[in-house]
Amino acid sequence: MTQAHGGQPLDSKDGPTRDERGVLRDEQRILYVLALTCLPFWVVDALSVPHWPWDTLALRLGWAGLTAGLGWGLEWVELPVRRHMRTAAGMVLPHLFLGLVVHRLGGVDSPLFSWFCVLPVVALSVSRGQLWQGVLSTGLAVVSAGAVMGVDGTPPARMLTWLLLLLGAGGVGMQLSFFYQRLRQARVKAEEQRLALQAELVESQARVLQAERLAAVGRLAAGVAHEVKNPLAYVQANLRFLLEEGRQTASDADDTEYSEALHETMQGVERIHQIVKDLTALSRADETVEGVARCELAPIVDASVRLASVRLKSLVKLAVEVPGEAAVLAEPRRLGQVLLNLLLNAADAIEDAKVQDGRVAVRVAVVGDRVRVMVEDNGPGVLAEHLPRLFTTFFTTKAPGKGTGLGLALSRQYVESFGGTLGVENRPEGGARFTVDLPGA
Ligand code: ADP
Repeated sequence: MTQAHGGQPLDSKDGPTRDERGVLRDEQRILYVLALTCLPFWVVDALSVPHWPWDTLALRLGWAGLTAGLGWGLEWVELPVRRHMRTAAGMVLPHLFLGLVVHRLGGVDSPLFSWFCVLPVVALSVSRGQLWQGVLSTGLAVVSAGAVMGVDGTPPARMLTWLLLLLGAGGVGMQLSFFYQRLRQARVKAEEQRLALQAELVESQARVLQAERLAAVGRLAAGVAHEVKNPLAYVQANLRFLLEEGRQTASDADDTEYSEALHETMQGVERIHQIVKDLTALSRADETVEGVARCELAPIVDASVRLASVRLKSLVKLAVEVPGEAAVLAEPRRLGQVLLNLLLNAADAIEDAKVQDGRVAVRVAVVGDRVRVMVEDNGPGVLAEHLPRLFTTFFTTKAPGKGTGLGLALSRQYVESFGGTLGVENRPEGGARFTVDLPGA
């Protein structure tokens, strides 16, 4: 988006935007008004001398014509030239023509001479609070009035008095200019702060929403897990009984096949039991925040990997390297959610890019008093232009309905609440690497 900064539109490669056009129209309007206002003052010229001053009328027409012409021409030039044209029409021309008019009306003895003192203040209307333009206007008034007095042969003492008066008027103009500029800057800053606060509010509302959603999913998962737990318990008990029975009556090859089938069924049921347990543990994360405490990393990684493997197994080969002694300061269930989110994101990336030989690895390294958990994949990696926005709320490249763009933002918030960091980089060999850096315990 293009914004007007301190009244100056930003340069745009694609022609003027709506903001720029608004600023341009304002500038043109100011110059047309300036052109028009110099004409009625001819009445003052006429009243200040005993004859009709047709020469100053011609000068004023020339002045008005040039100012209006420059105003009209603003829309045909680029921004830097526009600035010069505005300065020429609003500062140089008034001083030049006023000098000529005053000279024609009798020089320093003309009542219009005092108008030089007003010009630096008038210049404020075109300077838009820029200090250097106030300085330029004062300088021009001094030069122009000095030239008129020089041509008239004004005595030095009188000349000095006028020049000091002019400098005083210029000083007031510059002070006003300075305050105006400060006012504008304060307004721009206040607007920026308002927008930043608004964005922060939207972000935190989104996080609350996501946390609530997780909690709702968690409650549902806990309910399902609870319902599954009881039938699972008697299926396990009955399987154990059948296994025991089979062992006692085992005599021939048929029985061996029978007991192998039972063993396999038992393994499957045990796996279901473990998943239900992990799910119950994870789902409680949003009901009870236990607080940051020392926790062994291996069981947390194992639980997340087990849950994720329900989805990962069919897609990728999973490698896990966790030194047994690694322990961190964290809130275990939330850390579990973070790892699960990273693993599921890796699966999505690999699936979306249709990578044939998909691989995901979870590696843990103890570095001094920090513990680094890296979740790596051989998916497409993250586009360079997406990297700075990846952890921003609502940033997603997934199809509508599939991605919310909240997972990484919430994960980073969780990790930071443990005193850790969550970062991402592209691996040189391809794919993404997410690193959770946590305080060791
Ligand atoms: P969501 O998964 O709902 O899109 P996230 O905050 O979890 O929200 O992820 C934001 C975005 O980060 C994803 O849409 C995806 O573009 C990118 N991303 C996350 N993980 C990976 C990854 N392992 N490889 C490539 N891109 C990823």
